[in-house]
Amino acid sequence: MTAHLFERVALIGLGLIGSSLSHAMRRAGLARSIVGHAQSEKTRDTALRLGLVASVYASAAEAVEQADLVILCTPIGAYAPIARSMAPALKTGAIVTDVGSVKGSVAREVGPCIPAGVHFIPGHPIAGTEHSGPHAGFAELFDGRWCILTPSNAADPVAVARLKAFWLALGSHVEIMDAEHHDLVLAITSHVPHLIAYNIVNTARHLERVTDSEVIKFSAGGFRDFTRIAASDPIMWRDVFLNNKEAVLEMLGRFTEDLTALQRAIRFGEGATLHQLFIEARATRRSIIEAGQDTAAPDFGRHAGGKPSGT
Ligand code: NAP
Repeated sequence: MTAHLFERVALIGLGLIGSSLSHAMRRAGLARSIVGHAQSEKTRDTALRLGLVASVYASAAEAVEQADLVILCTPIGAYAPIARSMAPALKTGAIVTDVGSVKGSVAREVGPCIPAGVHFIPGHPIAGTEHSGPHAGFAELFDGRWCILTPSNAADPVAVARLKAFWLALGSHVEIMDAEHHDLVLAITSHVPHLIAYNIVNTARHLERVTDSEVIKFSAGGFRDFTRIAASDPIMWRDVFLNNKEAVLEMLGRFTEDLTALQRAIRFGEGATLHQLFIEARATRRSIIEAGQDTAAPDFGRHAGGKPSGT
């Protein structure tokens, strides 16, 4: 059992990531007390009933009082108003961090709300599932996954080291990079794949000569695995695309060019081109498994009760 790294941790948002943080913190004994806030009474009651938090508050300001670590775990679009409302209640010396999937806009919008004497260090665990809400969390979510921290150049190195120690104790690997680079990397590794998954489901839904029931019945042909992430929370993903517009548009442009090249190779019967592109893509896909970020099992380890990780 690790010694408590923090006396009081406030989780602002108690869905998949907030509840997983609670499970993982309690597994490692990282906090003497965990408190929380969510917008609905239903989620607040559920979090208390599940033992995710010792106390739950109807406002973020009440939840962060006396907390030495505050973690924003709501959709990104809710961050700025929450940051403004909790700012006067933050304890001097506290660390404020977050788990949002975009980092540049978070630094721009939340950073200025955080008072002097409070350390603001944005973060993003590259771990997730397509499930949402306080019941969805589990302690192992962050095990072996990367957490990216994007402190500004002015951030206090001692506070950054403390937050890094926290994520390591949760089971993650930690990497530090600047927010803009994070947003570019995640645009191609997470944001564009989600957009494509949402889009292909809608394309299938709008077909006239293939029925919805046929799409579902024959989905094991690839559609099922390829579109798992299209079940992800619509509000969270709306906010990701609104907040990482430039990097996503740049990566979508590249993707569209490559797709056009494939389309052309198919049209002109260029088998060697297709074969070579598939060989190269397969090698990259295999290196994800070698890096321990997925399994080679035909069902991706997602058998009944299996818990995928890595959104
Ligand atoms: P989630 O399961 O949908 O939970 C969101 C939580 O935020 C809920 O407790 C919700 O409360 C609360 N909330 C929403 N709006 C709020 C507001 N205005 N004020 C107070 N609380 C509010 O979402 P999640 O998957 O945990 O995602 C949370 C964050 O983690 C997002 O920023 C996302 O980018 C990031 N993230 C997600 C994943 C993933 O795979 N899901 C992975 C890495 C990072 P109610 O239930 O009361 O509405």
